[in-house]
Amino acid sequence: MHVKVCKFGGSSLADGNNIRRAAEILRADETRRYVVVSAPGKRFSGDVKITDQLYECYREAAETGSCVNAFAPVRRRFLSIVEELGLEHFDIASILDECERQIIANKSADFTASRGEYLNARLIAALLGWDFVDAQEIIYFNERGMFDEARSYRLIERRLKHCKNAVIPGFYGMDAWGCVKTFTRGGSDISGSIIARGVNAELYENWTDVSGFLACDPRIVNNPQKIGVISFKELRELSYMGANVLHADAIYPVRKGDIPIRIKNTFRPMDEGTLILPSKKYVKHGNRVTGIAGKKDFTVIFLEKQLMNAEIGFARKVLSVLEKDGINFEHMPSGIDTLSLVIESKYLAGGVLDTLIGQIKEAVNPDYVRVLEDIALVATVGHGMTASVGTSARLFTALSQAGVNVRMIDQGSSEINIIVGIDNADYEKCVRAIYFEFFSNATEADE
Ligand code: ADP
Ligand code: ASP
Ligand code: MG
Repeated sequence: MHVKVCKFGGSSLADGNNIRRAAEILRADETRRYVVVSAPGKRFSGDVKITDQLYECYREAAETGSCVNAFAPVRRRFLSIVEELGLEHFDIASILDECERQIIANKSADFTASRGEYLNARLIAALLGWDFVDAQEIIYFNERGMFDEARSYRLIERRLKHCKNAVIPGFYGMDAWGCVKTFTRGGSDISGSIIARGVNAELYENWTDVSGFLACDPRIVNNPQKIGVISFKELRELSYMGANVLHADAIYPVRKGDIPIRIKNTFRPMDEGTLILPSKKYVKHGNRVTGIAGKKDFTVIFLEKQLMNAEIGFARKVLSVLEKDGINFEHMPSGIDTLSLVIESKYLAGGVLDTLIGQIKEAVNPDYVRVLEDIALVATVGHGMTASVGTSARLFTALSQAGVNVRMIDQGSSEINIIVGIDNADYEKCVRAIYFEFFSNATEADE
């Protein structure tokens, strides 16, 4: 029989009503056999996600040895969900007591944060009458903290084949020392993708609060066009660059298994959503731009040195400095005698930037160093797009007409991406200018 793996995000499971909606969706299709769930998210703007509240519990427990204050809202939230769902026989109070006790005893941020998914999965399993399978039994990390594919897939297959249906908490697994370890924030998307691969699903359905992947962030452009079909490659570029509908690392497990993803809206289940396909099954749409995404708060360190091109090892020496300091760089656009490092500003706070520049000067002795701070990156993504002269011309004309000063361009070697660096202050203006150029004034070539 065909199998679908579903993942419901925190926005879809924020209260009892929404959880009931998710349960109806699951029951409506018997091939939806396994579901991965997030912790309850925000019910309204300004509300606190359960995961954030749990990090607060960790801080309180670390400081005072108790988390009685920070755990109170978590307790209230789950008690009210269980009440709303009328699960009288489900003893959530004892499970909450046990969680609070373990949070204090365990003293780990990851363990504490994981309890939101754990509790939600326990109660949703009770609601549906499905098996609860703990992620820490089937998702493993190795000694380097990386996801242990071989071990996890073996265990998932073995454990789930005996369950007709199961609810699995997202966001966490077990590390090589037997402790709970979480993925980065938004990581339940990764858990869902791993489970889909582990049971060799025909489809990974990712249920959220929007009717699919939109051509740009709906918080910047009102009601942007929905993307009907997108390739894994395009999606990876867009999610990495901040289109956080799906965690950027959720793509690899299903991509390797050739399993398509469909983004669906829990609140409008009949909407078609977005289908994400392996590149070989994806039919290109000419030179069309598929989507736009971006992030703020980068720093660019620009280095210039005469005859840099002939100096063997220049880039390696610069990168060794970053490696030694444990700093990740995002991009490294280079010219004949120039090289720029684009780094998230958060890694350079508290004097790190000055130290880093000192070390770079010592390592490679550049003629000129310039630092641009408060830079945002905006990526325009689409298959074959950069091969078309017309597309870049339109993009840069649109930006200049909007008065956006382009501080950096990185076309890299990726055929599907043009990244511009602009001032943080121009970020929204830049996204809007590109969106309206390629989506509202669609010409025939864009269809
Ligand atoms: P979930 O709780 O289901 O994991 P997320 O909040 O992580 O949901 O992701 C969905 C949100 O992503 C949407 O509500 C929307 O605000 C935001 N978003 C950002 N960029 C895009 C985009 N390009 N298309 C759709 N949604 C986007
Ligand atoms: N609950 C976790 C978070 O808020 C994981 C997730 O929702 O995917 O980041
Ligand atoms: Mg999410």
